[in-house]
Amino acid sequence: MNNSFSHLLLNWYQSNHRDLPWRKTKDPYLVWISEIMLQQTRIEAVKPYYERFIKRIPNIASLASIDENELLKLWEGLGYYNRARNLKKAAIKIMEEHNGIFPRTYEEIMKLPGIGEYTASAIASICFNELTPVVDGNVLRVFTRVRQDYRNVDEASTKKAIRRELEKIIPLESGDFNEALMELGETICLVGEPKCKECPLKDFCKAFKNNSWQDLPVKETKKEKKEKFYTVLLFIYKNKYALIQRKEEEMLSRLWQFPYLEKEMDEKKVINYLKKEHISYQSIKKDISYKHVFSHQIWHMQAYKIELNSYLEGYIWCTIKEMQEKYAIPSAFQPFLTSLCRK
Ligand code: SF4
Repeated sequence: MNNSFSHLLLNWYQSNHRDLPWRKTKDPYLVWISEIMLQQTRIEAVKPYYERFIKRIPNIASLASIDENELLKLWEGLGYYNRARNLKKAAIKIMEEHNGIFPRTYEEIMKLPGIGEYTASAIASICFNELTPVVDGNVLRVFTRVRQDYRNVDEASTKKAIRRELEKIIPLESGDFNEALMELGETICLVGEPKCKECPLKDFCKAFKNNSWQDLPVKETKKEKKEKFYTVLLFIYKNKYALIQRKEEEMLSRLWQFPYLEKEMDEKKVINYLKKEHISYQSIKKDISYKHVFSHQIWHMQAYKIELNSYLEGYIWCTIKEMQEKYAIPSAFQPFLTSLCRK
């Protein structure tokens, strides 16, 4: 890898990059928001969230002062809600320690809550031209294929070593270089079969030359996801529905959900449960089942619609409209809300 590598990559990027809303700016606030949203989420899915977010929260000061519930509602559907909470924490820190001005160096940016090496590098290079490479999954795939590098990319030492190698070749146009590598990984050097014929790096690429792309990058074998089974209780009374807030220490912390029991139950068992808990109901009906896959768990959920004879204590009761507009309900529970809407 050398100057002509960067040159080819940058040329390709100039004429091929996608026109994305956050690429029209070097404002670190906007780049930061987009980078955090793009973690674990596809570009196309992020676009409407990004537009809505910056319309409602256009700058650091407004992020620092927004109500947490409203913030989580704006984030609803993106998942990994701690990312949103950390955005607010970081905004408060910037207001308090940097007079509301986004820090300009990789080192200072790294000190903000929720910002790791990748995001700090992206912001420092894109907004302030710092010569700091980004190393994400796309970059690792392109790099290991070009080099035919069989080191395990899940190991921190490999990522660190690749970062050092990229530091040696990153050009002055560091932001474009970083974005170009990521864009190439996302659009040409694909996880499945790469489009090598369209790739500007094919003359450098050992995986292309040796047809070894299938074996790269080398990754740890993934751990099995833990399977969990839940019975979701859609309590209804006078066209209002019961919601409960998840506990602080649970995953999906402080988000809102329909009540559930941590076991798989058929209708008879649900009826027995209602009797045991002295919950008076008019009718019970099996509703949809839904499987939600998290990064480390799979939830199998079966819902029951239960028309009650009175409100139950311990829940908040709200209309469909209120659930849609006011409460952050994680994706795992959205299909049940959709099912209630169809009623
Ligand atoms: Fe990836 Fe093929 Fe380009 Fe090599 S030539 S970097 S394998 S797309």
